[in-house]
Amino acid sequence: MPAYDFKCDTCKRVIEERHSIHQIPASVECVCGGTATKMLSIGSAVNTQPCSSKYPYVSRRLPKNAAGCKTDTAGRPVIQSRRHEDTVFKTLGYARE
Ligand SMILES: [Zn+2]
Repeated sequence: MPAYDFKCDTCKRVIEERHSIHQIPASVECVCGGTATKMLSIGSAVNTQPCSSKYPYVSRRLPKNAAGCKTDTAGRPVIQSRRHEDTVFKTLGYARE
């Protein structure tokens, strides 16, 4: 069963609890009586950064085999990160997706 970290809003204590992936509470009660809310657990997801969650992705706007990109099996360019996206789109003169 995966472990989830909850952080108490009152005493800042971090509580680790194990829950079924189907029954993850949004918050648990802390020993101090406060409410501990779920933290994003490091390592549980491939990418937990809110701004970069769409990376990597396959671009449908860039030409096949676009310079500076790895490609998927169909030859479509794969954008690895926001920085990569900036570089590639700027280099090729495309607006960002
Ligand atoms: Zn507490």
